[in-house]
Amino acid sequence: MKDIDIIRIPILPMGMVNAYLVASTNGYILVDAGIPNSENKIGKALKRHGLTFRDIKLIVITHAHADHAGSAYKIQKYSRAPIVAHEADLPYYLREKAMTYCTTGWFGRFFIKTGIPLVEYEKFIPDILLKGTDSLDLAPFGVNGAVFSTPGHTQGSISIMLSNKKALVGDLVSSGILLGGIIRNGTAMPPPFEDSSVEIAKELSSLLVQGVETFYMGHGGPLAADEVRRYSNRILHGQKN
Ligand SMILES: [Zn+2]
Ligand SMILES: [Zn+2]
Repeated sequence: MKDIDIIRIPILPMGMVNAYLVASTNGYILVDAGIPNSENKIGKALKRHGLTFRDIKLIVITHAHADHAGSAYKIQKYSRAPIVAHEADLPYYLREKAMTYCTTGWFGRFFIKTGIPLVEYEKFIPDILLKGTDSLDLAPFGVNGAVFSTPGHTQGSISIMLSNKKALVGDLVSSGILLGGIIRNGTAMPPPFEDSSVEIAKELSSLLVQGVETFYMGHGGPLAADEVRRYSNRILHGQKN
């Protein structure tokens, strides 16, 4: 297997909400599916690269928030590709349980008021369900890497680590103010909501120990390892962020 490219698919402008296409010579993996009704935007992004939905071999949904799982049902249908997700977020994917949001600051509280995170998305059934600390080898889908459990943002959050030392971590960390790249895009900060910052910092530290050099996120980014190390050390040493 040769090089792997990470193509950002902007769901909202200025890095506010990102999905990604992991492109290798042997296959394409879609990471996250944007807010509801993003399928046309994702279809157009694929077209710009000479691709269609049918080129997607696997869809990774990093967690059950509406800005990541919102268009999963449609894209599963159009691509006929399997979805991998974690069992701990399954009740939300099936819309059996309403998501609760622990806001991390003023922006989270404001973002809740916009209603975007609370929007109902079409339920879907993941084809591959990771349980506990299961991991899935991406080689059968043409990409050298793995997807595995990294709980903390939600209990069912998963991340992708690629052989080129790049990782796609969903909402374990974000950057920039106002959900992305307006200013301070190179500075790590918490996403608008998270369940447990300490649990997340431990997962980030573990990814750093495994040699991740660049982090790609749902909001803002990418971030270099040093910045993520600074951020996670600050949380683990009990300082306010
Ligand atoms: Zn989230
Ligand atoms: Zn998000």
